[in-house]
Amino acid sequence: MPATPAIATERAAPRMIPLCEPHLGGREWEYVKDCLDSGWVSSVGAYVTRFEQEVAAWIGVRAAVATVNGTAALHVALRAAGVERDDEVLVSTLTFIAPANAIRYAGAWPVFIDAEPHFWQMDVQKAADFLARDCRWTRGALINRHTGRRVRALLPVHILGHPVDMHPMLQIAARYELPVIEDATESLGAEYRGRRVGHLGHAACLSFNGNKLITTGGGGMVLTDDDAWATRVKYWTTQAKDDGVEYEHREVGYNYRLTNLQAAMGVAQFERLPAHVDAKRRIAKAYTSALASLPGIEPMQEAPWARSVFWMYTVLVHPRAFGMSSRTLLQALARAGVQTRPLWQPLHRSAAHAGAYAVDCGTAERLHRQALSLPCSVGLTDEDLAAVVARIGAAHRGDDNRRRGLFRAHAAATQSCR
Ligand SMILES: *Cc1c(COP(=O)(O)O)cnc(C)c1O
Repeated sequence: MPATPAIATERAAPRMIPLCEPHLGGREWEYVKDCLDSGWVSSVGAYVTRFEQEVAAWIGVRAAVATVNGTAALHVALRAAGVERDDEVLVSTLTFIAPANAIRYAGAWPVFIDAEPHFWQMDVQKAADFLARDCRWTRGALINRHTGRRVRALLPVHILGHPVDMHPMLQIAARYELPVIEDATESLGAEYRGRRVGHLGHAACLSFNGNKLITTGGGGMVLTDDDAWATRVKYWTTQAKDDGVEYEHREVGYNYRLTNLQAAMGVAQFERLPAHVDAKRRIAKAYTSALASLPGIEPMQEAPWARSVFWMYTVLVHPRAFGMSSRTLLQALARAGVQTRPLWQPLHRSAAHAGAYAVDCGTAERLHRQALSLPCSVGLTDEDLAAVVARIGAAHRGDDNRRRGLFRAHAAATQSCR
């Protein structure tokens, strides 16, 4: 018996294409089973050490300390850098909120720096201008004239898989004697002038959250060449235990450890990192060429000095040329079964961080209005990618509006017949 038209439409409704799913294509089962079989499931175990050592060796950094998540990694890295109560830390305004929250956990305040318009990363020139014009030296401390607070560190965030321009960043760090902590949570595997991110500043933080390049379910890591920093980070992440027999503590620490179970998954995922990076780069290339013919869609760029891992493939939607705003496109794609997402509210606009100082952040605001991230899971198929592109094209041509127009006309006609 033929299906009724209503059911047929429902059946034809497209499957949702998610924004970014984990890809578990390696030896995860084997290593996790090994933990279960051996009983080593908790916060110490061979996989934790192995995970730390393998990541450190690959990045080329001396020490790595695994943590419960990337936010915790940032918190203890900031403390290792000497950030204290009422200090200030320069951080990108256009980023996921975690680094700004971590600054506040350390008792300090963010100073929000705008994004540059080309690669959307922290605008290093604006950071330099802030330090030159808005700060003064007082008794050996660099003071923000507007707040009276001491500027203590730089926290560039390599967003969306692409590195910040680190050479000028390190120059200002040297000039003002400020440690640099890289937030590399979105950019594991990316390169800056042939060097891997995670080894460009004084410390770096990684995340293994479910949507990152590799995942442990949840997890993070602090990387550093400084053995003293690594020792302190390890100390704080393990409840600042001074005596492992008598359980004596001089300081208030944290329980920020990664479990062996999670690390087992991490080791398996890390074996697949190059494959994940290849997939992300292939997806980015395919989108960029397929979207080139659509007016008003501006794909994310890769700097000549960078190798991006295109963690989250993102485009700018120019409303006049494309025919609708990024948010209208988001809704049209959602109706067509394609999950997309804008970039984060710039943090200088966030009520959570009211009271923090910010430089002029006009570029981040424009990027926030225009940006849309497209489905880019490591496992995204060619068919799904083609479907996303086709649905963006349909939105541009107004197929969707026409359909809704027809639907409205039909609904009106049905109503008038009642
Ligand atoms: C994911 C992320 C983090 C850390 O996140 P966790 O979920 O705590 O691991 C930190 N900074 C940025 C920019 C991120 O995207």
